[in-house]
Amino acid sequence: MDQTQNEQYKRRIQEMDRRISNLERVLKLTQVINSTLEKAPLLEIIIQAATELTNTESASIMLLDQNSGDLRFEATTAAEVKPFAVPIDGSIAGTVLKENRALLVRDARSDPRWYQNVDEASGFVTRSIMAVPMEVRGKVIGVVEAINKRSAAEMTWDDVQILVTLANQAAIAIQKAQLLAELQAAYDELNELDQMKSNFIAIAAHELRTPLSVILGYAMFLKQDVSGTAEEQLDIVLQSAMRLRSLIDDMANLREVDSGVASLDLTEFPVQDLVSSVVGEIRSIAAAKGQHISVAMPRSPIFVQADRSKMHIVLMNLLSNAVKFTGRAGRIGVRVQGTDRQTSLMVWDTGIGISEENISRIFDRFYQIEPSLARQYEGMGLGLAIAKEMVALHRGHIRVHSRVGQGSAFTVTIPIRQSMVAQEREEAQNP
Ligand code: ADP
Repeated sequence: MDQTQNEQYKRRIQEMDRRISNLERVLKLTQVINSTLEKAPLLEIIIQAATELTNTESASIMLLDQNSGDLRFEATTAAEVKPFAVPIDGSIAGTVLKENRALLVRDARSDPRWYQNVDEASGFVTRSIMAVPMEVRGKVIGVVEAINKRSAAEMTWDDVQILVTLANQAAIAIQKAQLLAELQAAYDELNELDQMKSNFIAIAAHELRTPLSVILGYAMFLKQDVSGTAEEQLDIVLQSAMRLRSLIDDMANLREVDSGVASLDLTEFPVQDLVSSVVGEIRSIAAAKGQHISVAMPRSPIFVQADRSKMHIVLMNLLSNAVKFTGRAGRIGVRVQGTDRQTSLMVWDTGIGISEENISRIFDRFYQIEPSLARQYEGMGLGLAIAKEMVALHRGHIRVHSRVGQGSAFTVTIPIRQSMVAQEREEAQNP
């Protein structure tokens, strides 16, 4: 190997070393870039990385606004700027964007495409520029520029290549941040709409309840004074008004669970009392369909610590469904069981039953098995969703077994004391 060949090898090795160390620096910086999810700090990191990797005095970043089609100057290390539009036609960045290729301009001031606004605003003096496109999946989303070498050295295409490598990584990170911001905005909007919906439901339920109480009150009052056909007609008025009240209650209960207002108002009572009172309320409606409700519960009281009115709603919803989805002369039953830890209430019927594919969906809000246009049964598809959420508030669960054409059995299980749940959790955490 002669002297010159030796020199050549040495130079090549030095060159490769330099490239490898540059790539290592790009890799390190892209790790930081990739882990930054917010747009403003991300842009800041990208322009800092651009100056560092290319050893330049300043760097800036421009992004294409997908809606307006403007190329917007977003940030520079030279000064603090508010975003402004850079002309696409005739500017260096615009050319890079349109033609999707890097540019190296060694004497910016003599290039007619140089856009001097930033220099004028910041007092910075631009001599040379390299500008590269930021490309994701074949689409240019913006441009990164690096300005003036720090040393006396000239800008080279090697520098441009480093900037291209950085820009490609930066483009992916920016798009990720933009998508995340859009997702967050959509999520915020959804939350706002949800809040509006909740408020609307609360107001509507409140406004409907008052006149309905008046109708119910007068109808009951009048019923005492009339007989014959008038009494039958009043019964229909009363039934419809009560049905309306239960729909309004469902709306209000759902809103309560949704808005997180729902908390437990705990008292201790025998679960048998609750069952008797709910069965007592619904018995006449079942009797009108020729249905019999049988109740099986232990003689000695099972005391539960629970929110009585919420458990009332749960049991009422299950029993109303049993009555609704069971034909004339069908059988309906409630069975109560208890241990020293929990109590379970089973509501069973010999009604139409639920197919396996529907069982997983009946607890979803507004889900009804019957197609809504050909409905035979009334309802909003909220009863089970509300029941499930109220049972969950008690840290319990609802299970269902059913056979189409044979009937269904819904079993609610709740701990008999809420304090026991907390204690058990503590024991599990600190065994
Ligand atoms: P709604 O009864 O107001 O329609 P629910 O949330 O209470 O709403 O019930 C959802 C659906 O589950 C009902 O529409 C019905 O198709 C089915 N379902 C609920 N309970 C029973 C039952 N006991 N027997 C048969 N189907 C039932």
